[in-house]
Amino acid sequence: RILIAGELNVDLVFRDCQSFPAPGHEVLAEDAQVVPGSSSMICAMGLARLGGKVAFAGKTGADGWGDFCVSALQNAGIDVTAVRRDPALRTGITASFSTHSDRALVTFAGAIGALRADDIEDALLAGADHLHVSSYYLQGALRPDLKTLFARARAQGLSTSLDPGFDPEQRWGNEWLGLLAEVDLFLPNDKELAGISGCVSPLDGLRALDNGRTRIVVKLGRYGCATLGHAGDLLESPAFKVSAVDSTGAGDSFDAGFLHAWLGGHPLVDAMRWGNACGALSTRGVGGTARQADAGEVEVLLES
Ligand code: ADP
Repeated sequence: RILIAGELNVDLVFRDCQSFPAPGHEVLAEDAQVVPGSSSMICAMGLARLGGKVAFAGKTGADGWGDFCVSALQNAGIDVTAVRRDPALRTGITASFSTHSDRALVTFAGAIGALRADDIEDALLAGADHLHVSSYYLQGALRPDLKTLFARARAQGLSTSLDPGFDPEQRWGNEWLGLLAEVDLFLPNDKELAGISGCVSPLDGLRALDNGRTRIVVKLGRYGCATLGHAGDLLESPAFKVSAVDSTGAGDSFDAGFLHAWLGGHPLVDAMRWGNACGALSTRGVGGTARQADAGEVEVLLES
């Protein structure tokens, strides 16, 4: 059983806008959808879609958007016992506006960064085999005690993983190195790896952060993913070719595929391919969760 801790929010996605609105003006969009939006929710739903047993720890407001998030998780078969509803907060919302060539986002953070490490009780950890934290709001209330949370999980025998998400304030620094040492698996994308390591190339970044125990797999978008090989070389796994509709949350679906295979005992190179397959297949639909792959679809792609 995998426990995912992180944020919950909704995405309002306006697609194919005529242009971005100039101040005081209104433009039309060809399509608009409301979809489950956070990094952690996309990863949790991806894992559930692959058949995994998943529990979620997070926080929303006690409002309609919070109901929407909780229902989405429940409909995916995810245990929501540890999702707290805080009447003092409103659920976070991200509005995404895309034209044919560009995208702009507006986020109201609301409850997104409100989950605290002590909201995650020992009994919850005891019921899980693995803790995955995925959040682009890691500098929220979770951040000060995140290292302790991982240490608590490890003390209870759980394996641990972290996707750093996007840090809007770019406050990288030595803090990450300590955090990295507490996790078995670290899943940044290329920009996050560069931000944390200070190195431009993925190979230099992987070498710089290598601590001898944490497996780091870096996501490289349409180039797939890579990790450090035995000889300190770059072990790459190429992406699958897909005609992508929307790559929002591809990294979170990658995490789901990688974790599913890795925790299921597959060798590292297979887990990298599972990650790539789930990342690629998730780009078939709008938003991160609309078209996530089931295990059968992944196997068909892996054999193609
Ligand atoms: P993030 O969403 O965190 O920025 P990436 O953009 O690197 O992450 O995407 C995560 C994974 O999804 C990649 O490692 C790759 O396997 C897959 N992926 C993303 N974009 C594409 C694409 N255009 N074609 C095929 N696979 C893709």
